[in-house]
Amino acid sequence: MTTRPVLREAIAACREVTVVYGDGDALVRALNAVSLEIRPHESVALLGRSGSGKTTLLHVLGGLVEPSAGSVEWHGVPLQSVDRAARGALRAKGIAYVFQGANLLPHFTAFENVAFAAQLIRNDAGSTLTASAALELVGLSAKLDHLPSELSGGEAQRVAIARALVQEPELLLCDEPTGHLDADTGERVLDLIDALQAELGFTLVVATHDADVAARYGRQLELADGTVVREEGAPQ
Ligand code: ADP
Ligand code: MG
Repeated sequence: MTTRPVLREAIAACREVTVVYGDGDALVRALNAVSLEIRPHESVALLGRSGSGKTTLLHVLGGLVEPSAGSVEWHGVPLQSVDRAARGALRAKGIAYVFQGANLLPHFTAFENVAFAAQLIRNDAGSTLTASAALELVGLSAKLDHLPSELSGGEAQRVAIARALVQEPELLLCDEPTGHLDADTGERVLDLIDALQAELGFTLVVATHDADVAARYGRQLELADGTVVREEGAPQ
């Protein structure tokens, strides 16, 4: 795993972040002056209806979307002060995503999907978890040679989790990770993410529209119309 700071400074923080898409009549204020801090090892749910700004907030935290106003910091360093290439390298070292749909490359096997990500990351970040070890962690050693079309929805999502794990992330951002799964399969995927967090120690942020899913996590931030309207639980 990557070295962790001795101080429990925020891993990622938003300061008064506003994100505006489009302009004129098509202008959408996806986030409106949102401030939050994500502390090492905590698990945070971003709860909100569709369109409330969850995905935008995950993308801002992960440095994929630039705020229209306000700032984002990783370990106290404002991203505006870091050039694009250095930001990419920092992200590769520390931040991984699991998306709603598994988003696997359809013509690559489970193993190849994870190995491809591992290869991209390894050049930058020097992580050591192999694709096979990551697939073993998610219980898919028997399906290495399966194409995504030969996997169930839950299995495909487990491959997506393995793909994130090879990054040995300090922060795992999950965007509606069970959104495409039936309730039982979704529950198993969430249990797996919890078990992996306990084993590997990453910090977890999960966006969900489901209050029952959000209730699993230590802290819940509820979004509505791009604003945090409720916070429950303190940073652990
Ligand atoms: P959620 O993930 O909670 O459904 P999003 O962050 O995806 O919310 O969207 C917040 C708002 O921003 C919505 O009104 C959505 O339509 C709008 N939005 C999101 N991404 C874009 C984009 N790339 N261009 C224009 N509008 C967008
Ligand atoms: Mg979304």
